[in-house]
Amino acid sequence: DLSGRVALVTGSTSGIGLAVARRLARSGATLVLNGLADADAVDALCAEFRDTYGVPVRFQACDLRKPAQIETMMAELNHAYGALDILVNNAGIQHVSQIEAFPVDKWDDMIAVNLSASFHTIRTALPAMRARNWGRIVNMASISGLRGRAGKTGYNATKHGLIGLTKSVALETAQTAITCNAICPGWVHTPLVQKQIDALAEREGLDNAAATNKLLGLRQPSGKFVTLEQIAGLCEFFCSPDADEVRGVAWAMDGGTTAA
Ligand code: NAD
Repeated sequence: DLSGRVALVTGSTSGIGLAVARRLARSGATLVLNGLADADAVDALCAEFRDTYGVPVRFQACDLRKPAQIETMMAELNHAYGALDILVNNAGIQHVSQIEAFPVDKWDDMIAVNLSASFHTIRTALPAMRARNWGRIVNMASISGLRGRAGKTGYNATKHGLIGLTKSVALETAQTAITCNAICPGWVHTPLVQKQIDALAEREGLDNAAATNKLLGLRQPSGKFVTLEQIAGLCEFFCSPDADEVRGVAWAMDGGTTAA
């Protein structure tokens, strides 16, 4: 039961972040949504949260590529709520390219959103969390934080980095009731992954179903997508009292990929 807890989920206008936000709201948490979305979509989402879960919700605009905007967002949230109880660093972007051709601006954006944004949210959330001596920090990494893959230098670098950040924050907070953990999803069917399916289909002249099967076959032994609900359930577990002593893990939910 997360009633009375306040949760910020970055990148919660789509995909995994939205599923996590819905799950935390279903458990009673007050939700702060964030992401890149137009005003109508944001209004519809906030109405859904109020109507379906009956919890307070607000949308916090913030381009996570911009440290100054993150500082402003975190100051506003600490002011509004005293402290965040749950911080889910979920927003992430992907770009697939061999390193020689990797666009430098895409590299910089990826480092900013996938890695540095978590540094900034955590460093600005922790003082108030420490003052209350309770907190949950969950970082959405990836199996790309545990394994390398040709074409994913930027993504691999950021996700390995995010797992390193997770472990060190977990140790810095080890004697408190604040935990910091990472989730490492395998393939989950979201817009981020559909773009990779579309690219594969185009490159190899496949239809959507064939490209999807090929992508899963590339490295997900189950041959199935991990579901949004399953990832959200793991995040909810990290927020529960049973997970009080789960600290600094990089927990794969990947249909067996990292077992091989
Ligand atoms: P998605 O594209 O559906 O959602 C990404 C979210 O991040 C959106 O809400 C988007 O608006 C937000 N975002 C992107 N750039 C932003 C910025 N500059 N400022 C603020 N918000 C920004 O992607 P998803 O598949 O749901 O991925 C969510 C997380 O899970 C990412 O960190 C991703 O790396 C990770 N992940 C996804 C998969 C998968 O198979 N889908 C697997 C492993 C890890």
